[in-house]
Amino acid sequence: MKEIYYDNSATTKVDPRVLQEMLPFFQENFGNPNSAHSSGQSALSAIDDAREKIANYLSCETQEIIFTSGATESNNLAIQGIINSLLQTQDNLHIITSKIEHPSVLEVFKTISKKEGIEAGFVEVDSAGVVKLEKLKELIQPNTVLISIMYANNEVGSIQPIREISEIIKVERDRRGEKGLPIYFHVDAVQAFNYLPCQVNWLGVDFLSFSGHKIFGPKGIGGLFAKRGIKFEPLAFGGHQEYSLRPGTLNVPGIVGLGKAVELVADEQEKNIQKIKKIKSKIAGELEKFENVRFNGKGEFQLPNIINVSFQNAEGESILMLLDMDGVAVSTGSACSSGSLEPSHVLTAMGVQPKWAHGSIRISLGKDNTEVEVNTFIKSLTVAIKKLREMAP
Ligand code: PMP
Repeated sequence: MKEIYYDNSATTKVDPRVLQEMLPFFQENFGNPNSAHSSGQSALSAIDDAREKIANYLSCETQEIIFTSGATESNNLAIQGIINSLLQTQDNLHIITSKIEHPSVLEVFKTISKKEGIEAGFVEVDSAGVVKLEKLKELIQPNTVLISIMYANNEVGSIQPIREISEIIKVERDRRGEKGLPIYFHVDAVQAFNYLPCQVNWLGVDFLSFSGHKIFGPKGIGGLFAKRGIKFEPLAFGGHQEYSLRPGTLNVPGIVGLGKAVELVADEQEKNIQKIKKIKSKIAGELEKFENVRFNGKGEFQLPNIINVSFQNAEGESILMLLDMDGVAVSTGSACSSGSLEPSHVLTAMGVQPKWAHGSIRISLGKDNTEVEVNTFIKSLTVAIKKLREMAP
């Protein structure tokens, strides 16, 4: 049985070309890029190459890239780094994020806003999972110093109006003038990185997080674009690596793999998008034929690779299990945590009723999926839904 992998938003398979580039850096070329001898310098030159590839894709300077262990760390570094820096001279800071962020942003906001002198606002989204710009404007206060909004949501794929948000921020910045409090814009671009333009100046962002394992690169490596000149604090203290903002010996194979993965994204983006769009529309067409089905976040404001669909009277977790037995990997929209089925915070924020939220699954495509797989998947799904509905009370 050949597995059908529809969980590319959770993680992706390392592209063989990425793996090939990484392999020499485990044994033949294992030097520490901080060492002055040739072995170290050859590792450093590989790091420089990777940095260059990423800077090209983001249209930024190489010094504006900081390598991290992944997007969880990048998000924490940007948010906590800014707050900890500003807290040295200011009190009463206000920060804003959306209700549908990944936990690596949402939980940071919830935790740091428990500290004295930090207040957080959580902007609402509409039924398509898109941030309401009017509500965002209303939330901005004279002491708002950071806005963190994801580029595209990981559960429903909704694309956020990043350029419009950066315009709103620019207006506020201009209003405050050069001597006023700063207001920074951080964007978690993890899910968008494969499919949407990521030139940081065009987007108008100050910080942008990305992750290797969502772009057919390795796990445990990611990066943060941090606009030159912005002062922020590290999360950990140690050596001088990454301008002392992320000390620790660099993960050379991981960085080389990340660089190659980003290069492939840049080179093959158009081709991959076209291929994935076709598969998505074929799947969506088949799903529409089911009874009592609804799409969460369908349409033009959605990534080309994500479908989030709900079935009434069929539990998402059970659908996942039955599909898995047939070799199809999807994920659910409801996080089953500590034995209690909590409806997803994203679907809840979109106003999806619990009866729909509980029956939701996420199909997330990648460049290796094929049109041929669709029929097998739909057959399995048809059997699974029928079985679960027959069992439903
Ligand atoms: N942000 C988003 C939107 C994500 O989807 C993920 C991964 N699920 C992360 C952040 C965290 O990335 P990482 O696994 O690299 O820490």
